[in-house]
Amino acid sequence: MASGQMKTHGAGTLRSADDGSDVILAGWVARRRDHGGVIFIDLRDASGVVQVVLNPEDTPAPEDVLHGLRLEFCVQIKGTVRPRPEGTVNSELPTGAVEVSAAELSVLSPSEPLPFPLDGRTDIDEGKRLEYRYLDLRRQRVADNLKARSKAIRAMREVMDEGGFLEVETPTLIASTPEGARDMLVPSRLRQGHFYALPQSPQLFKQLLMIGGVERYYQVARCYRDEDFRADRQIEFTQLDFEGSFWGQDDVLDVLESIVVRVVSDLRDETIETPIPRMTHADAMERYGTDKPDIRFGMNITNLSEVFSDTEFNAFSGVLSGGGSVRGINAGALGLARSGLDALVTSAIEAGAKGLVWMVVEEDGSLRSPVAKFLADGELESIKTTLEAEPGDTLLIVADSSKVVLDVLGQLRLQVGRPEGHDELAFLFVVDFPVFDVDDDGGLSPAHHPFTAPADLTELLESPETALSKAYDLVLNGTELGSGSVRIHDPVMQATVFDVMGISRDVAEDRFGWVLEALRYGTPPHAGFAIGIDRMVSILRGEPNIREIIPFPKTQSGADPLTGSPSRVDDAQLEEIGVRVAPDVLTAWEKAEESPDD
Ligand code: ASP
Repeated sequence: MASGQMKTHGAGTLRSADDGSDVILAGWVARRRDHGGVIFIDLRDASGVVQVVLNPEDTPAPEDVLHGLRLEFCVQIKGTVRPRPEGTVNSELPTGAVEVSAAELSVLSPSEPLPFPLDGRTDIDEGKRLEYRYLDLRRQRVADNLKARSKAIRAMREVMDEGGFLEVETPTLIASTPEGARDMLVPSRLRQGHFYALPQSPQLFKQLLMIGGVERYYQVARCYRDEDFRADRQIEFTQLDFEGSFWGQDDVLDVLESIVVRVVSDLRDETIETPIPRMTHADAMERYGTDKPDIRFGMNITNLSEVFSDTEFNAFSGVLSGGGSVRGINAGALGLARSGLDALVTSAIEAGAKGLVWMVVEEDGSLRSPVAKFLADGELESIKTTLEAEPGDTLLIVADSSKVVLDVLGQLRLQVGRPEGHDELAFLFVVDFPVFDVDDDGGLSPAHHPFTAPADLTELLESPETALSKAYDLVLNGTELGSGSVRIHDPVMQATVFDVMGISRDVAEDRFGWVLEALRYGTPPHAGFAIGIDRMVSILRGEPNIREIIPFPKTQSGADPLTGSPSRVDDAQLEEIGVRVAPDVLTAWEKAEESPDD
């Protein structure tokens, strides 16, 4: 790796072919064994680890320096590579056939005792890890994640570059772009009382680039959304954002396939079969109860309403006559005891159902269930046939409004069937999204940003609640990796869509007048997408949390324990930008921090 005066080789690069070479290494003491005589250290640098032997007879360093070496001291070694003695070869380590016999040792920088061990053998409190992230980054797992992230971004850039995309940066101090989340605001000093927003995405700028004739744009873009944190969400995150002119949906999905194939191949040395399967949003909801199905396993949701059309079982007949449905999944041979089945009932209720009917198929084909006695023989038979049930299978059935039924069964399906980890990768395109999501109370909220083209404007105007849009998502193992759409390129259609979305003429003119105006100057049809890079890499690395992939993430509560952000600022600084903090907004923990003795 290195070849300079301070170091000639990367520690992790040395192999038998280097035997006999004189090397200068520099890095950190990752492990050390000092039995009073010969000292062995594992010297780690960015390239890996090699064993170094410090024999006081060959290494004329003062005793106190030799024996004073401690973990994570930053040191330089001059020495010679030699084969490890027979019987001590470590085949698990890439450098395991060699060691470096040190002739000179210099301590470049000592280290205080560490707040936690870096050898990966212990579970460390995340708060501590983030407070000392610079030490955490020295741990193998985190270092490997950083490398994977860099590799993924490089692969993406290569695909974009080969496709003739222009990398363009867009501003991060902007007027707010609606992506459905809360904006992070930045006060303006020069125009006091006015605020910039940090971009939720470069959406409008990339559309302006299309109007500007760029035709193929991409950016590795930082985005900010002031949302509640979850395992796969941070307030700032990174997208691969791209857009193309004279494009429809298929052009975007083709590019996405190339990206997915390249990134997976570079990160995991695996081949993703193309085409990546496509599923309509309606099918996804009907069969998996979610718009981001995990298709690594079956357990499809099946409509059983027909089976119970004449049922005398009140719980089902009541729901059906009220316009709801009865649906179920065959969860396979779960082999759960009564307590396990009861726990599923509790999960279903927590997920919003009034209850859950479970049935277990006995060896003789009969159905064991608390409700079996209320159902006719024909109904029991039909349940088995419709759900293709075999002896040993557990069947889970919910009756309620279709929305609740699908949602609950979708969650139960994941709970009982989802494979652990991410060994298998199941990518999926979900297409034909509706324009609106229907809320629990029947209200409509836009499913995508308002620049998304409707499939058919007349349909949108006549029946907005069922109208489809030209929006699509990329899903991996049940997680949404990103979304995109064909955009509106006609100012009249854009104004109409603002209207339908409940953005009044005045507000539209005030906030997006410039968009409407820009669309009037020969806007090309265009479409695009944005992939969440942190999310994608975390799944490909089998990491449960995107914080493992972000170099300097924030905690669950949005804080950075290392640098202390967010922090209070001087009154003078606030005065300069014309901002005054109301005393009562200081939260309890800030007050507690101010007066720790109280
Ligand atoms: N701006 C959208 C987002 O961040 C992606 C897109 O429509 O291209 O989700």
